[in-house]
Amino acid sequence: MPEVPLSLVLSAASFAAERHQKQRRKGVDAVPYINHPLGVASVLARDAGVDDPVTLAAALLHDTIEDTGTTAAEIAALFGDEVAAIVLEVTDDKSLPSSVRKRKQIEHASTISTRAKLVKLADKLCNVRDLRRSPPTDWPAERVNGYFDWAKKVVDQMRGVSPALDDLLDEELGKRGEHGD
Ligand code: ZN
Repeated sequence: MPEVPLSLVLSAASFAAERHQKQRRKGVDAVPYINHPLGVASVLARDAGVDDPVTLAAALLHDTIEDTGTTAAEIAALFGDEVAAIVLEVTDDKSLPSSVRKRKQIEHASTISTRAKLVKLADKLCNVRDLRRSPPTDWPAERVNGYFDWAKKVVDQMRGVSPALDDLLDEELGKRGEHGD
């Protein structure tokens, strides 16, 4: 540290792949977990036109604290304080019950930084896409629809940061209840 921009992004991808290596996505396809952070970073780069390496690195690392026991200090040491701060902003407190965490996401979404909002919007877009295309086998339709309703409430707090992401989210959330493509 500090690394040159492209190297920062690639190192973050590599670190996230290592930390998520034993995890799979919940969908019926059970794809390797790393496909998710890679998808979030790709949405930001391709659809939202984000070329800021700090935001892209944070997107790649966004689930490492919440889901792999990685600490913010580790991320700060390897990728810098700015990346660590964004990842922390999009990390839920897992000591809280799920219903409380979900409520807090709605309450806090409008207060986080612009970079964190971009990561969170792209994360929600990827999650609702995955849910529609490859819902977890043990999720009944009501649970999938409940996720869509909740995701919309979180997303609505962050409108205006990226018109492109707003449009994609409107389109995807409007497909609620339709499965497959
Ligand atoms: Zn995620």
